[in-house]
Amino acid sequence: MNPSIHLEPSATIKINSLALEKQKSGQGVFNLSAGEPMVDTSDIVKQSAIRALQKNYTHYPPVAGIPELRETACAWMNEDFGANFTVSETLVTAGGKMGLYMVLQAYISLGDEVIIPAPYWVSYPSMVKIFGGVPKIIETSEAEDWKIQATDVEALITPRTKFIMLNNASNPTGVLYTREELHTILSIAQTHNVMVISDEVYSGLVYDGNEYISCASFPEFKNNVVIIQSCSKSFAMTGWRVGFVFAPQDVIKILSSLTGQTTSGVTTISQYATLTAIEHRKTIVPAIRDAMQKRRDVFIDTFNSAFGTELQKPVSALYSFIPMSAFGISETDSLTFCERVMEETCVALVPGVAFGKEGYVRVAFGVGEEELRESIDMLSTFFIEI
Ligand code: GLU
Repeated sequence: MNPSIHLEPSATIKINSLALEKQKSGQGVFNLSAGEPMVDTSDIVKQSAIRALQKNYTHYPPVAGIPELRETACAWMNEDFGANFTVSETLVTAGGKMGLYMVLQAYISLGDEVIIPAPYWVSYPSMVKIFGGVPKIIETSEAEDWKIQATDVEALITPRTKFIMLNNASNPTGVLYTREELHTILSIAQTHNVMVISDEVYSGLVYDGNEYISCASFPEFKNNVVIIQSCSKSFAMTGWRVGFVFAPQDVIKILSSLTGQTTSGVTTISQYATLTAIEHRKTIVPAIRDAMQKRRDVFIDTFNSAFGTELQKPVSALYSFIPMSAFGISETDSLTFCERVMEETCVALVPGVAFGKEGYVRVAFGVGEEELRESIDMLSTFFIEI
C-alpha cells in the first residue's frame, strides 16, 4: 500500500458490517450502530427508479449530474434553506461522503490544517489524514452543549489552515447551531481567508419544531462556504448513494473534473429516483422526521426509566451520545465497553473514542421502536445484574 496514505477503517461502517454479518449467520443482533432511518424508501421514489429502467436511462450520466436533478436540488436549497445557488454551483455526488472526500482531495496539500470540532463524525479526521492534512481538533463538552466557542476557533487558525469543518446538525451529539453562532464562525473564517465546509446531511431531521439554519443562508459569506448535502438521512435513501456539493462555481468545476477522472458520475437510476424524491420532499421528509422523532422519544424515555437517568432528547439527527456513567459503571474505555456489550448483550453501539471523545457511546435510534425497547431491555438486564 502507498505508505503516504494514512488509512483507518471507518468505525461506524466496521461495527455495522460486524452486526450485519452476525445477523446473516442467524445470530440475533440489535443494531444501534450505523445511523440510518430504518424505514422503506418511499414508493413514489421506487416507482421512479423502475420507470428510469424501463426508459433505458442506463447509460453514462453527465459527470456533474443529470441537469434536471441539479436544477431541482438547487431549488431545494434555495426554497427550503434560504440559499441562492445556481445549477453551475451544484454537483451530484455518490453520497455526501464522496462529496466531502473530493473537496478534501482537491484542496488539501501535505501539512494543510483542518479545524474539526470534537466529538466529530468518524470520517472527518481520517479523510483529512488520507490527503496528508493535519486535523486540528477543538474539544467541546456536554456542559457547553457540545458547541465550539468562536475564540477557540480563532486561536487554532494558522497560515496553514485550509478549512473549518462544521457538522450542523451534529453526528453524534445532535446539536444545532443558531443563526448568531453560525454568523460568528463564518465571519471569523472569512476574516482569516479560511473556507468553511458545512456538512448539513441531517438538515431534514430536526425535531420539536426547531428551525434549521443552513450556512448557505448567509449571502455575505457565500464565496467562503462549501455545503455537503445528502438524500441518505432526510429521505431514507442511504443505499441509493446520492448526495450533493453546493459551492462556488470554480470549486464545482474542479470537483466535476475529479468525478470525470474517477467514478464518471452517480448511478443514473439513483439520480432519477432522487429527482422524484426531492420533488416530493414536502411529504416525504416530514413523514421520516416524525417517525424518527417518535423513535428518539421511545429510546430516551425507555432508557431513562430503565437506568434512572435524565438523558436529554437530542434536537436533531439520529443519535444519542451517552456518557458511560449512565450505565452505572465507572470505566471510560469506550472501545472495550462496546466490545463487551456486543459480546454479552448482542447490542451494537459505537464507542465514543471513534468520535474523538472517550467515556461516551453513540446509540443510533433510527431502528424500529420494538428493537429499541428490546435493546434497552438487554442492556438493563445485563448492567443491573453486574
Ligand atoms: N453516517 C452514518 C453514521 O455515522 C453512516 C455510516 C457512515 O457512513 O459512517 O453512522
